[in-house]
Amino acid sequence: MANDTPKKMTLWRVKAPGQNDAIVNAADSVAAGVEAARVWCVPWKEIAAYLEVSYEGEQYMRRCPKCGRTFYTPTLADKWSRCKPCTAREKAYKARLHRSIDAKKRAERGK
Ligand SMILES: [Zn+2]
Repeated sequence: MANDTPKKMTLWRVKAPGQNDAIVNAADSVAAGVEAARVWCVPWKEIAAYLEVSYEGEQYMRRCPKCGRTFYTPTLADKWSRCKPCTAREKAYKARLHRSIDAKKRAERGK
């Protein structure tokens, strides 16, 4: 199957004491709790009472064209959008580039 066909998902953020937040795809908040328990490898019955589920919206599952990591995005507007770490890295790189260009210009002016 082609990886570039984004899949639309209904995402939920599930919190429970002692667990990292889980982002899961599920039809409703109850199913999200069950899915999160599965992700954490914890019996759902034991944590059901402590679950905190919030709706994250419908999002597409994408694969980052740069690093191949899976990430979620609400729109398909930008076909080449990248995952958060890659976007951050790129932003930092551009900022560094601009700084070095500025420094070069300043040095040239200073002559
Ligand atoms: Zn990436």
